[in-house]
Amino acid sequence: MRDIQRKSKVKFCVKRSNKGMGLGLFANKPILDGEFIIEYTGELISTEGADSLSTKYLFAIDENYTFDGSDRKNIARYINHLCTPNIEAQIEAGEIKFFALQNIKEGEEFGYDYGKEYFKQFIKPRGCKCPSCRLGN
Ligand SMILES: [Zn+2]
Repeated sequence: MRDIQRKSKVKFCVKRSNKGMGLGLFANKPILDGEFIIEYTGELISTEGADSLSTKYLFAIDENYTFDGSDRKNIARYINHLCTPNIEAQIEAGEIKFFALQNIKEGEEFGYDYGKEYFKQFIKPRGCKCPSCRLGN
């Protein structure tokens, strides 16, 4: 079966990203457009309560529920923000799953758009270090 073959090699690895971006999640093998990559895991908390937490690893599902993904077991927390994302999150039945938006080459970094609010609060003040912003500078 094709699926079993694909599982034989892990799709991603965590390693150092570009300067200023810390660690990132990278493709360990070629990924096809639309392919499932990883799930964002964590503790389900109320979105209201999430606002008071100091962690940056929050992922809101809707106005009621948010995932606190601070736990290191949540590998998806290493995915950086990219202004030109190559993956996207799909929220289904209370699960956050990332899928490829395009074919991704082995060794390429995964990134998704963290959204306007996060960008304004955490990224803009220190300047976005993603490749498309650095090229634009
Ligand atoms: Zn950027």
